[in-house]
Amino acid sequence: MSPDHDHRPSDLDRTERPPHALVSGASIAGTATAFWLHRLGWRVTILERATGFRAGGQNIDVRGSGREVLDRMGLTEAVRARTTTEVGTRFVDEHDRPVGEFPTVPGEGDGLTAELEILRGDLATLVADTLPAEVRWLYGDRITAVRETADGVEVDLAGGGRESADLLVVAEGVRSSTRDLIMDDVVHDPLGLYLAYGTIPRTDDDDRWWRWYTAPGSRQATLRPDNRGTVRATLAYLSDSTGLETADHDAVVSSLQQTFADVGWQVPRILDGYADTDDLYVDFLEQIRLPHYARGRVVITGDAAWSVTPLAGGGATLALVGGYVLGAALSRWDGTSAGLDRALSGYEQWMRPFVDQVQKLPPGVPRLAYPHSRLGVSLLRGATTLAGTRPGRKVGRLLGSGPQADQPLPPFG
Ligand SMILES: Cc1cc2nc3c(=O)[nH]c(=O)nc-3n(C[C@H](O)[C@H](O)[C@H](O)COP(=O)(O)OP(=O)(O)OC[C@H]3O[C@@H](n4cnc5c(N)ncnc54)[C@H](O)[C@@H]3O)c2cc1C
Repeated sequence: MSPDHDHRPSDLDRTERPPHALVSGASIAGTATAFWLHRLGWRVTILERATGFRAGGQNIDVRGSGREVLDRMGLTEAVRARTTTEVGTRFVDEHDRPVGEFPTVPGEGDGLTAELEILRGDLATLVADTLPAEVRWLYGDRITAVRETADGVEVDLAGGGRESADLLVVAEGVRSSTRDLIMDDVVHDPLGLYLAYGTIPRTDDDDRWWRWYTAPGSRQATLRPDNRGTVRATLAYLSDSTGLETADHDAVVSSLQQTFADVGWQVPRILDGYADTDDLYVDFLEQIRLPHYARGRVVITGDAAWSVTPLAGGGATLALVGGYVLGAALSRWDGTSAGLDRALSGYEQWMRPFVDQVQKLPPGVPRLAYPHSRLGVSLLRGATTLAGTRPGRKVGRLLGSGPQADQPLPPFG
């Protein structure tokens, strides 16, 4: 797609009709973008591949610049009322004895557990609920072809339909198929780590801590509270081979049963819970890097543009900030094609340094955090105990409590 820099007769006359955005993907990045574009007076259509709004998903957090955006959306208190109620992060040994504790102290900033921990589906629902009835929703369909036209962009849908818009916003997450249709230079950076997560029944032993157990063989298990009376369990392990992410439920459970067979702690219970749950999800973590976030009349945002993975953290924060920054950039659009190029490059210029900062993993991650030997696990526990002391926690907070952009959020024009 090559944008035309001339002021063509087809360029938008903003006095006549508001511009139309087609937003593909109805999670945090898609709904946040729709929120700001609707505020600007745009007509918005949201296209979602799933047959209904996806309200599921695991624990995510909103930190730093994401908190500022949430404030500007007027949603901070609504999020606070729906947090997962987690009180802190506790690293434990095989007998569930604490080896290091990181409580979240109100007023002291975010620790490993942030002040605003919420389920992904709850946050997406909160944002979606702010959208008025004139925002159009299309479910159960996806884009199969993208064409730039004289006055915008046109897409074919798998269901046989066709949509046109002034701007296509791709917010389809890390495995975005529309991004892959229009960009052949997507960099996938695998982290060599599988992460499975699912919802399992709560027991009397479960508390409000995020409990974290590391076992030899580069394996980890965690249990987190939610606000639904259930528990969110993850199993993670280092692996260089892929394929499990496309396997069916029974094959995933059986593979995890083999990989985690000899791991004690709460793992047998997690595996039993996984066998019975219908929201088991497994993913091979990879970061996404794009040479450009926009091409012609198409702009990419959220995990589709810059997946950071849960290892780096900050995916939800970046999705919220991306929606705001795109809105701010488009608030200065004069309706011409050249003006759109300028607006979209303004979005990219603001976002890229922030994304680069968030994508950077601490040295040794994930290898040091997933030791193979018993000695490695003991050393990691020693380091965790030290970091969990009062001075250690203070240093941790000074090093940063979440993704905070170096520059202020851009104003709306
Ligand atoms: C286990 C786990 C823990 C996490 N923890 C954190 C955390 O602590 N903090 C944090 O900030 N982030 C965390 N994240 C990341 C966070 O969930 C995502 O970064 C965030 O949801 C970004 O959202 P997104 O809208 O870009 O993509 P997604 O949430 O992936 O949503 C993409 C949407 O697009 C839809 N879609 C996909 N393909 C198509 C298509 N072709 N056409 C139409 N629709 C399509 C999908 O159905 C989905 O609704 C975590 C993620 C995981 C998996």
